[in-house]
Amino acid sequence: MSQILWFRRDLRISDNAILCNAKEKVLPIFIFDKNILQSLPKDDTRVTFLYKSVLKLKNQLKSIGLDLAIFYDEPLNVFKDLKQKGFDEVLCSVDFDSYAKKRDEQIEQVLPLRRFLDSFILNPNEHLKKDGTPYKVFTPFYKSLKMITSSSSIEALKTNEKLEKVAFDYEKTPSLEQIGFEAQNLPDFLKKDAFDLLDDFKKKIHNYKVDRDFFHINATSNISTHLRFGLISPKQIFNYFKAFNDENSEFFIREIFWREFYNYILVHYPYSQTSNFNKLEMTWNENEDDFQKWCEGKTGVPIIDAAMIHLNNTGTMHNRLRMVVASFLTKNLFVDWKKGEKYFALKLLDYEASSNIGGWQWGASTGADASPYFRVFNPYIQSKKFDKDGIFIKSVLPQLKEMDAKLFHIENGASSNLFVDYPKSIVDISQSRKQAIEKFKRAKNENI
Ligand SMILES: Cc1cc2nc3c(=O)[nH]c(=O)nc-3n(C[C@H](O)[C@H](O)[C@H](O)COP(=O)(O)OP(=O)(O)OC[C@H]3O[C@@H](n4cnc5c(N)ncnc54)[C@H](O)[C@@H]3O)c2cc1C
Repeated sequence: MSQILWFRRDLRISDNAILCNAKEKVLPIFIFDKNILQSLPKDDTRVTFLYKSVLKLKNQLKSIGLDLAIFYDEPLNVFKDLKQKGFDEVLCSVDFDSYAKKRDEQIEQVLPLRRFLDSFILNPNEHLKKDGTPYKVFTPFYKSLKMITSSSSIEALKTNEKLEKVAFDYEKTPSLEQIGFEAQNLPDFLKKDAFDLLDDFKKKIHNYKVDRDFFHINATSNISTHLRFGLISPKQIFNYFKAFNDENSEFFIREIFWREFYNYILVHYPYSQTSNFNKLEMTWNENEDDFQKWCEGKTGVPIIDAAMIHLNNTGTMHNRLRMVVASFLTKNLFVDWKKGEKYFALKLLDYEASSNIGGWQWGASTGADASPYFRVFNPYIQSKKFDKDGIFIKSVLPQLKEMDAKLFHIENGASSNLFVDYPKSIVDISQSRKQAIEKFKRAKNENI
């Protein structure tokens, strides 16, 4: 019996489901999937990070007597070829994404595929309410997981030490250029190991509850990208913080379960990937110019422009800013959340379909346990509250560097300074808020 161990978004050797469940002779592989990569820009930083992470995994596997064969192809071609070479089955972790599900079904036509839970703590299909239906609201969902969340640790999976690598040409690794990408400089947090990030974060976790909303402070863990690619498992994060057994760690662990919740929702309600979870029929604003100005950070609202330009430059955006720009796009500009979701998917280093869709539908008040439709973030109040001195805004918009930060928190305050080149707001905040609420009310009534 020889098994193919297909690494995808589980790029580590500790607490790894396939290394735990594999037996005897194995061929660990990673495929740079042409179907996915061909739609990405050549300078996509995520691919540089992924590429480096795959090489690191190869070294880690070598350290335990195994290796990694790396392919650049369509997965179907790879498995057809491996079947001819006599492999019996494929072991991989479950990927709940819609593309991944379809891809895996295709592969199953070629070779038996055994899937194991790895990227999430909870198997959504195994957890339902007493009435047999899925949870739709976070708090009862979280409370229902008390068996897990109150335990002091979750047993990590042990690698089967008896594995042997099959003879194979392991040296044919394609270069980053050969897979069509240019090497990018990685931000500091992506140069670090996942556990180093947790060690850094542990030093400031006592302030997390309060500071995590102040987007000019680096107060959060920055672990989302490592988590998305499986350089650390959610269980390892859970166990790391449970060991401290304090209130701050518990608060942080609860955040990790938002990720579990959004994955759970997408698995049970797959239609919510492309339509409103609450099934409201909305007539969105189709004005392309409004959307483009939002994408480029040219709306004339300093907090929105700074957040979007920062995203475009770095691939990162603070959680509070994600909520604020999502509310602005969907409520003030009344543009469909799906356009914002797609834009984030292209730009975010930590892009993960379920959390992104969940976050966007939350902001647009169309999702599970979403923000109520009458809650429209006022971007000026948000900047006044969380960036009073304009530290973040000034760091991104140099033309506003010398300006009194108070002007950032007043509609058209920044553009009122005639010596500075900054546009007027493309939208009236209070009027657009009222209109959005009316449109939501109407849609709700029509839905009854
Ligand atoms: C519109 C919108 C889009 C988003 N898109 C994504 C995305 O594509 N990928 C992604 O990982 N997160 C997404 N989030 C959630 C959140 O913004 C990021 O997880 C967080 O900013 C990552 O930074 P961190 O690791 O320092 O977070 P921390 O505050 O340190 O949180 C630790 C971890 O908890 C989880 N988490 C925290 N808050 C949330 C949340 N609201 N939803 C889901 N998980 C959460 C994440 O795994 C995060 O890494 C989105 C939120 C919104 C409002």
